[in-house]
Amino acid sequence: MKKVLITGANKSIGFEAARQLLQKGYYVYLGSRDAQKGQQAVDQLISEGFDNVEVITIDVDNLESIKAAREDLGRKTDVLDVLINNAGISGGFPQTALDTDISVFRNVFETNLFGVIETTQAFIDLLKTAPDPRIVNVTSGLGSLTLHTDPNWKYYHAKGACYVSSKAALNAYTIILAYDLRDTPFKVNAVDPGYTATDFNHHSGPGTVPDAAARLVKAATLDADGPTGQFFSDDNAPDTGISPW
Ligand code: NAP
Repeated sequence: MKKVLITGANKSIGFEAARQLLQKGYYVYLGSRDAQKGQQAVDQLISEGFDNVEVITIDVDNLESIKAAREDLGRKTDVLDVLINNAGISGGFPQTALDTDISVFRNVFETNLFGVIETTQAFIDLLKTAPDPRIVNVTSGLGSLTLHTDPNWKYYHAKGACYVSSKAALNAYTIILAYDLRDTPFKVNAVDPGYTATDFNHHSGPGTVPDAAARLVKAATLDADGPTGQFFSDDNAPDTGISPW
């Protein structure tokens, strides 16, 4: 049975990805920064008939929490097949290049970039023991620098300075992580779940949580012929599914 850790999985897209991977027969370590919220999410999944799920407390803003989560997981398993770096924050909108306080930039980068790096580095040894490891970095279509320079793009004016730059930086990290893991069985990809109705955006997105989660699950379950080092976005590229960086 393959094992997956999903950060920020106590609700919304991460929670639904947990449910869909359970349906596919995965063992799910459901990451939550709040142990109680995580347990409630696990209880919900158990009430739906799933057995192979348990909570891992992990706050990606806190290196001690990440290390504790790694120790906790290490007591439960020697192998981790999939890591989904899903936890993310917007920092609140509007955000402008000149007027937004640097503390907001730092907070958003802490979760969306540094948290992903620290989590990936902490769990990479467990992932390396899997035969076909997969890393999914949950980015945003708004992380595309190419599209942000196209005035005809539908989200051209969605220029949240902190969020956009954090996800663009996450995309760059994803490219380099995939490069560093080339010539291995790893598949490392950035996935845009699409503009989706969740707490993240006060439920303004047109997309559904199941559709968004399915995009993460697709990248988490790629077979050996699947791509690595790609930026998947059905929103930005309905025909190919591959977004420009
Ligand atoms: P959400 O409803 O706000 O849920 C975010 C999840 O991340 C929650 O479980 C939250 O935990 C967790 N989280 C936040 N900071 C954390 C931290 N420091 N450590 C651990 N967990 C943390 O957001 P969502 O819509 O499901 O978004 C999931 C991912 O998709 C994010 O990376 C987001 O940037 C990306 N995304 C979303 C959209 C969209 O339209 N929704 C579009 C593009 C990309 P708490 O419950 O404790 O707050």
